[in-house]
Amino acid sequence: NLSTKLDRAFKTLKGQGSITEINVAATVKEIRRALVDADVNYKVAKEVTDKIKDEAMGRDVLISVSPGQLMTKIVYDELTQLMGGEKQDIVIKGEPAVVLLSGLQGSGKTTFAGKLASHIKKQGRNVLLVACDVYRPAAIDQLKVLGEQVGVEVYSEPENKNPVQISQNAIEFARKNNKKVVIIDTAGRLAVDEQMMAEIEQVKRAINPSETLFVVDSMTGQDAVNTAKTFNDRLNFDGVVLTKLDGDSRGGAALSIRAVVEKPIKFISTGEKMEALDLFYPDRMAQRILGMGDVISLVERAQQQFDEEEAKRINQKIRKNQFNFDDFLSQLEQIKKMGNLKDLVGMIPGMGKALKDVEIDDDAFKPIEAIIKSMTPKERAQPELLNGSRRRRLAKGSGTDIQQVNNLMKQFEDMRKVMRTMNKMSQTKGGMQQMA
Ligand code: GDP
Ligand code: MG
Repeated sequence: NLSTKLDRAFKTLKGQGSITEINVAATVKEIRRALVDADVNYKVAKEVTDKIKDEAMGRDVLISVSPGQLMTKIVYDELTQLMGGEKQDIVIKGEPAVVLLSGLQGSGKTTFAGKLASHIKKQGRNVLLVACDVYRPAAIDQLKVLGEQVGVEVYSEPENKNPVQISQNAIEFARKNNKKVVIIDTAGRLAVDEQMMAEIEQVKRAINPSETLFVVDSMTGQDAVNTAKTFNDRLNFDGVVLTKLDGDSRGGAALSIRAVVEKPIKFISTGEKMEALDLFYPDRMAQRILGMGDVISLVERAQQQFDEEEAKRINQKIRKNQFNFDDFLSQLEQIKKMGNLKDLVGMIPGMGKALKDVEIDDDAFKPIEAIIKSMTPKERAQPELLNGSRRRRLAKGSGTDIQQVNNLMKQFEDMRKVMRTMNKMSQTKGGMQQMA
């Protein structure tokens, strides 16, 4: 399965001292192959592995984790992102709120209708199930059996063959009978079919549901992605229900559907029993695909430790009045990683003042970074070297102008001044404490 294949991919990196261009390329190739084997759409697999590669190349290898572990974390983060990042709930809104189910025959719509009804009922809301599969007489009975199992009323009109009418009548019935949420189960065909599409489109237009869900069998692999695309083009649905994840489904559908139709997966179904319904958590799914348990927290801890050691190192340099552009750059990186920039710049001596006129977001740092990165290692370590002609070179090399370079130099000098003053003050204070 996917996780053993990825395991093998990470073996490439085991025991290596660092993530280098060569071993990343090999690993990324393996990962891509593993994803494609797991039914991830090739284009999606390529996109995600390209991102993983960029991400991995830019990373310092941490002190206490292996490159393989770090790589696992990078892949985990990318997969989580690919599947939408955050968990997304269904929207239940309206009087009554209407949820419309769509999908091919056999995808698991009717089964899911029963599960969702049970799920919503448990939240204390009064639910109504509606049988709108007018082509198969057995479909109504199937929904009735499920409704009875979960204790939810089922609305049906066995003689009526018009799903638009039935769903409108059902909503009217719900209003009169104090039902807060209406779940409409519809007919599917074995394959994408114009009549089915036109019909569900009409139903959607007539009842304006607060949530339209597309139900898809995860075992159908690449087809699942194509079907999702066709349904989304016609229905512009709000979310996806991925069923039959209990079987030997390869899970690739979860990865590609989100990327291809740009709609979140909201539920996963893992069995025929009414309890077998889960909310979809992208991070848990990524974890399941990677089968890795503790690696993530290990890497996160190591990352923290790395940051702490870096902070200590910089502090020492400040204390010895040796703060240079390399340190400045490293501080910028740290700040960017930590997110809340406004709060953080204030914590670095002089930095808040130096950047006080700058609108603080990641983009604000870009020209500064570009200028510093245009410096030679020697210039970064010894900013005094930066005379007029060198500054002009920096402006050219970084796509900024001489004014920006001069500003940065001035800000940097101001920072160093503040640091020196602080050092003097703390020395005086220390001295006075000693005397006392
Ligand atoms: P519909 O045609 O879309 O309404 O699909 P059904 O709800 O009738 O489901 C088709 C078949 O798949 C039935 O035999 C269900 O019991 C089965 N089924 C539905 N969801 C799941 C699931 O998550 N796991 C498994 N193993 N079977 C499922
Ligand atoms: Mg059905």
